Order: sequence, then structure tokens, then C-alpha cells
Amino acid sequence: MIEYYKSGDRMLEIVIASHNPNKVKEIKEIYPTINFKSLADLNIYDEAIEDGTTFKENAYKKAYYIASKYNVIALADDSGLCCLGLNLEPGVHSARYAKNHDDNANNLKLVEKIKNIKNKKAYYACAICICLPNGVAYYKEKRCYGKIVLEPKGSNGFGYDPYFYLKKYKRTMAEITLVEKNKISHRAKALRGLRRIFRKLNKKYDNQ
Ligand code: IMP
Repeated sequence: MIEYYKSGDRMLEIVIASHNPNKVKEIKEIYPTINFKSLADLNIYDEAIEDGTTFKENAYKKAYYIASKYNVIALADDSGLCCLGLNLEPGVHSARYAKNHDDNANNLKLVEKIKNIKNKKAYYACAICICLPNGVAYYKEKRCYGKIVLEPKGSNGFGYDPYFYLKKYKRTMAEITLVEKNKISHRAKALRGLRRIFRKLNKKYDNQ
């Protein structure tokens, strides 16, 4: 856990530009003293079209859409699974690999495609973008390495986690706890990499 924010009445408020409650939970656990609001908290139901070709591009699209439209500081995560034996598929298409946003269907498609491929090494990638209403943006992109297993294990996490095996823990990402995931995950590493930006924004906020 990282605590940069002084206790007091005023807290830096950042809107997490995501409708994925699992991502929101993971982000909040890393910076518990930032006043994060989810889109659900603010009754916001619209979102940007993710038609970029990189994680970074999509993270900017999502963060800028919310920051500029609602005049807030927004944080967006664009992430996905990249399999070395599948030419880095599903990559930026991870959420809709099997067309609809359906984790089970995505996982079935992944297993079907990778089962006869020898190289099952994979990584999760995550680009985080923090964007101000005027479009000024800060980024960090990080990875977490593992391998794909054909039998799912565990019920924590989300998405491809039951199939993503971590050598360090000798378990899948869905078998480890949120605290353990936040020690090694792509998302946690990218968020921690932005700690100086969070500090800077907090200072600016305090001086207003
Ligand atoms: P996004 O919402 O467009 O960034 O899509 C992210 C997708 O990538 C998710 O729907 C999952 O399929 C996958 N993904 C990203 N991060 C994780 C993770 O930490 N665990 C499992 N799947 C993930």
C-alpha cells in the first residue's frame, strides 16, 4: 500500500474510467488514500470507443473521453494478455477475443488456440493513462510474465486469471490473493510507476 496523501478534509479525486469492477478494486487497493470514484459511483454509463492499435492509445482514448467530457482528472487502464506462441494474441482484443465481452468464451477460445502450441509463455500488459480535462496526459506501461495452462485453477481475479500460471507463486493468478496479485501484476506495476505523478497532482490540488 502506498500513502502519499495527507490526512485532512480535502483529498485528490480521480475518476477511474472503467466499467470493470475488478480493475476498480485492484486500483483502489494500491492507493487507498486517493479518493477514487468509479463511473458507477458517478452514474456515468457511456465510454470511449476503443479502436486504438496499442494499449497506450486505448488508455488515452478512455481517460481523455471521461476527463474532457466531465471536467475531472481521469485514470484509465487498457490491458490484455499477449501469448508468445500466438503472435501476441489476443493483445488489445483481449476483452472481446471471442467477439462478446465474455470471460468464459474468451478463455475457451484461448485454450482451443494454444493447446497444440508448444510455447505457452505469455504476459499481461497494462498501460495506465492519467488525463487532465485539458488533455495533458501521463502514462506508464508494464508487464507481468507467466504461462498459459490448459486447466483453469482458482476463482479470484477475473478474465484469463485462472489460466495464467505464475512461476513465482507456483499458482495461477486466480489462486493468489488480491494483495499477492498487487505485488506482481502488470496493473500494479504501472500504477506504482506513476507515484510521482500522483504526488504532483496532489500538491497542485492542495495549493488551489
Ligand atoms: P480492457 O478493459 O479493454 O482493458 O480489456 C482488458 C481485458 O484484458 C480484460 O477483459 C481481460 O480479458 C484481460 N485482462 C487484463 N488484465 C487482466 C488481469 O489482470 N487478469 C485477467 N485478465 C486481464
